[in-house]
Amino acid sequence: PDVVNKIAAGEIIVAPMHALKELVENAVDAGSTSIEVLVKDGGLKLLQITDNGHGIDREDLPILCERFTTSKLKEFEDLSSIGTYGFRGEALASISHIAHLTVTTKTANSSCAWRAHYGDGKLVPAKPGQSAAPKATAGRGGTQITVEDLFYNVPTRRRAFRSSSEEYAKILDVVGRYAVHCSGVAFSCRKHGDSGVSISTPVAASTVDRIRQIHGSAVANEIVEFETADKKLGFRASGLATNANYHVKKTVILLFINHRAVESTAIKRAVEQTYSAFLPKGGHPFVYIDLEIEPHRVDVNVHPTKREVNFLNEDEIIEMVCSEVRSKLAQVDS
Ligand code: ADP
Ligand code: MG
Repeated sequence: PDVVNKIAAGEIIVAPMHALKELVENAVDAGSTSIEVLVKDGGLKLLQITDNGHGIDREDLPILCERFTTSKLKEFEDLSSIGTYGFRGEALASISHIAHLTVTTKTANSSCAWRAHYGDGKLVPAKPGQSAAPKATAGRGGTQITVEDLFYNVPTRRRAFRSSSEEYAKILDVVGRYAVHCSGVAFSCRKHGDSGVSISTPVAASTVDRIRQIHGSAVANEIVEFETADKKLGFRASGLATNANYHVKKTVILLFINHRAVESTAIKRAVEQTYSAFLPKGGHPFVYIDLEIEPHRVDVNVHPTKREVNFLNEDEIIEMVCSEVRSKLAQVDS
């Protein structure tokens, strides 16, 4: 069964960025207002996420890395909505099968922090011969997740990584996406050993401000807001899109469906089509889309790492969003 677990985990976490994404989502879910990311060797040596969220109860630590057992199962009736991406309490479990995982956490009503080490879904001692029970330690409120030696027991996967700077760039992209979506959260991301940070953003007053912090004024100054919704189609969408005064060489789409960063080829294509009437040849937009769809309408069978999501009435919903963008662009144009 451990081999099966390892294989399953390696399918969910294909690259460091996938582990990072899950950990950032957990930190956001915990109500954090500050999320710090530290990376060593493209995330293969070390991925550390420190948040100031609500923390994890001491009693929950022994089962934290068991599949499907965590707090969310207390709301079992809501399974259809939590399972939006076929991902139910699997992230930490998966990571524990393919890396050394350490969790340090403190809730508001605990007088100290607790540290626990995990391997293959279970608590393990920090050093051989020691007890595996969580240890009391000093610590601030919130959670620090430390992932070391990712894929240490999956040599074929480990060998597939050529350059740690490429993996780091993907990590930065994920952090940058969540930073735009969660403008009320301060983010930082840095490479271990570097004195400077790659991303460092205080809490932003608005999403436009956050785009300015991350992507610069050239984008933020040429942006239109859009919003649309339809009860029958079970969705609401809002977002920010560059106007015809701005363009880049490659389309940038920051797409969130139900607060998860995802990809949609259909949406990308439709957005490019929409802009082709406004931009010169070879010019492309920057678009942020915050789409909320009734969870039962989103395809749960899509593999989480594919991140490519399908949903009901896709064509109608995409057309409504694009026609909204189109009319905003036309207003600026005239
Ligand atoms: P899921 O997020 O699908 O429940 P995970 O394996 O990602 O599964 O996380 C398991 C559980 O651990 C979460 O439901 C949450 O209760 C708890 N948890 C994980 N990370 C954090 C965190 N940073 N802060 C607080 N709780 C966390
Ligand atoms: Mg999670």
